[in-house]
Amino acid sequence: MEDIPMPCTCKGCERDISISEEQITRILTNMRPKMECVNDEVYEARLLACSQCEELMSGHTCGISGSIVRVRALAAAQNCPSYHGSRWIGTA
Ligand code: SF4
Repeated sequence: MEDIPMPCTCKGCERDISISEEQITRILTNMRPKMECVNDEVYEARLLACSQCEELMSGHTCGISGSIVRVRALAAAQNCPSYHGSRWIGTA
């Protein structure tokens, strides 16, 4: 009997959601000089909210937006897309 491929469980696309620390660090390094970023206090508050969120997938990806949360949280213009309202209250 032929193996049936497992369906992709990513909500946003069919790409593999695995990403390395090195890749995330490279993205963050490239972002800082090119866009308005939040300060460290806001950044940590946003990431704390993500770490406690049921939508966080694989420890790095927002299950609603498909964004890498460490990347999304750094951008001042971004917000949390939670269906229950932003979990980044006071940090947007
Ligand atoms: S819904 Fe908001 S808090 Fe939850 S993982 Fe996505 S960005 Fe983070």
